[in-house]
Amino acid sequence: MSVLVYTEINKGKVKKSSLEAVNYASKIAELTGTSVTALAINAEGAHLEDIGKAGAKKILSVKNDALKGLDNMLLAATVEQVAKAENSKVIIFSFDIVGKAVAPRLAAKLKAGLVAGAVDYPVVNGNSLDVKKNVFSGKATAIYSINSDIKIISLLPNSFPVKLGENSASTSDFNVDLSAVKSKIVVKEKKSNDVGGMAPLPEAELVVSAGRGLKGPENWSMVEELAKSLGATTACSRPVADMHWRPHHEHVGQTGVAIRPNLYIAIGISGAIQHLAGVNGSKTIVVINNDKEAPFFKSADYGIVGDAFTIIPKLTEAVKKFKANQN
Ligand SMILES: Cc1cc2nc3c(=O)[nH]c(=O)nc-3n(C[C@H](O)[C@H](O)[C@H](O)COP(=O)(O)OP(=O)(O)OC[C@H]3O[C@@H](n4cnc5c(N)ncnc54)[C@H](O)[C@@H]3O)c2cc1C
Repeated sequence: MSVLVYTEINKGKVKKSSLEAVNYASKIAELTGTSVTALAINAEGAHLEDIGKAGAKKILSVKNDALKGLDNMLLAATVEQVAKAENSKVIIFSFDIVGKAVAPRLAAKLKAGLVAGAVDYPVVNGNSLDVKKNVFSGKATAIYSINSDIKIISLLPNSFPVKLGENSASTSDFNVDLSAVKSKIVVKEKKSNDVGGMAPLPEAELVVSAGRGLKGPENWSMVEELAKSLGATTACSRPVADMHWRPHHEHVGQTGVAIRPNLYIAIGISGAIQHLAGVNGSKTIVVINNDKEAPFFKSADYGIVGDAFTIIPKLTEAVKKFKANQN
């Protein structure tokens, strides 16, 4: 019996959220007297090494070209086959794009209980796991008890540390049979307006986000410039994505991506509850708004009352100067 953890490679590296998931799985294994098996798909040696360092004791490496497109149906079938072979009773995902799509499918296949978006380590309570997650748009937390035979938990990215130690994992190949899955990706579109090379939004530690106060898409180069100077990922409020000023994958909040960065800079965003729901787990919040009564200031650690069009260039300049002095 093992705790199974799904890991993913992105831009040549094991995703940070996957390493968090392996660490978390190790904690559950410790609490339940079992060990961690990690599933790695189309991974190379260096990736397997990192997964081992994060605490996996066994790594099952699946090489399959059909899985390169991250098709949710194929991934769910893959994790199901591995979970059955390993007799896994606890399965861990990150609550990211893949985890949001695959974990519920897998839960239905395995008749497993699922808690999506855990923010703390579980408490073992007899045969149950008590798992904490945010509810009511982050205004409260609730503890869900999973008492099914197989339990699935997905983790809110940036909620758990990544600790790397010695790699003592054994690695073996695992062949999956995906012939029964009738699924095919027909169109794949690459988003073109990401700030190059930055972390994907769900796992970004620094985020610069802007809202309707920016007036129009033509003003976003200013926001991107600030993000670039900080090494941050860009995000936006929902109306901004609805008006197609920015792509929908940048929209944060209740109906968008939920994030927990170390730093969230909100520019020209009013701070509606639906927006806060996705960002109020951020460790430090900086709000820039020309209305001193804007609700966002109540959630801010630091606030600047003023015109974004004056403040953003000054801030970018100051960051660049600071970084230049450090070198
Ligand atoms: C069911 C539901 C779900 C929703 N989900 C989401 C969600 O997931 N995410 C989300 O973001 N919203 C969501 N919303 C919408 C939400 O209620 C707000 O309408 C939205 O967040 C407002 O976006 P905003 O702050 O960019 O725009 P506004 O509310 O128009 O605020 C613009 C802000 O910019 C400031 N400003 C204007 N000019 C300047 C300037 N020159 N310099 C500095 N500041 C300036 C203004 O003072 C104002 O505070 C949802 C709503 C509903 C009903």
